[in-house]
Amino acid sequence: MIITDTHTHLYSEAFNDDRDDMVKRALEHNITRFFIPAIDSTYTEAMLQLENDYPNHVFLMMGLHPTHVKDNYKDELKHVEDMLSKRKFYAVGEIGIDLYWDKSTLKIQQEAFKYQIQLAKKYKLPIAIHCREAFDEIFDVLETEKSDDLFGIFHCFTGTLEQAHQAISYNMKLGIGGVITFKNGKIDTFINKIDLKHIVLETDSPYLAPVPFRGKRNESAYVVEVLEKLSELYNMSTKEIADITTQNSKDIFKV
Ligand SMILES: [Zn+2]
Repeated sequence: MIITDTHTHLYSEAFNDDRDDMVKRALEHNITRFFIPAIDSTYTEAMLQLENDYPNHVFLMMGLHPTHVKDNYKDELKHVEDMLSKRKFYAVGEIGIDLYWDKSTLKIQQEAFKYQIQLAKKYKLPIAIHCREAFDEIFDVLETEKSDDLFGIFHCFTGTLEQAHQAISYNMKLGIGGVITFKNGKIDTFINKIDLKHIVLETDSPYLAPVPFRGKRNESAYVVEVLEKLSELYNMSTKEIADITTQNSKDIFKV
């Protein structure tokens, strides 16, 4: 059985003291594929180092995170474009709109999101979407950009059943992580109405640790908690769910 963590910030400073042990713990639990979303240019070097250290397990994305769309966003987008033109990445991400941290940057967040979707299309790559308090704004952009060559993952999906169907209608899989284990997470009440072919697993580590680690540092090994919760909700074995969701990740990332 192979488990895929489709969204993990393994390069985060939170792992500087024990990154190798943390990766080993994940490998021991059959989590052997790590997809690494970008944030901004300040992390690029650490991401490339990570790939160098774990070449068989780490697959990098490139992109500008919506909470890092600031005054210098044009330079940052240029960096994303340069990197995409220079070497292989497996997705453009994470990109999107976040109105929780800063509403004043909505206009430039929308612009950066659109621009990066166009880059993904140009390189025939999937996108990894970050959405926080911005479902309507994200769907507006997806509506104008939708096409056969727009596809990817709606990372850390926390919407309603209706929003889930809408995301799927834009060729997006739903990234399911620790929130599925939360008492007030809500998605556990309807997720089994969604066919598993639309679901991938993720941690978003070091953030959003699942129960029983909620509030602590998250790490890729904890994706097992998400897998077990889905196994309970879908009434299927963890192996079946791992197999299907790993296959889904292969369909998206082409690796
Ligand atoms: Zn993330």
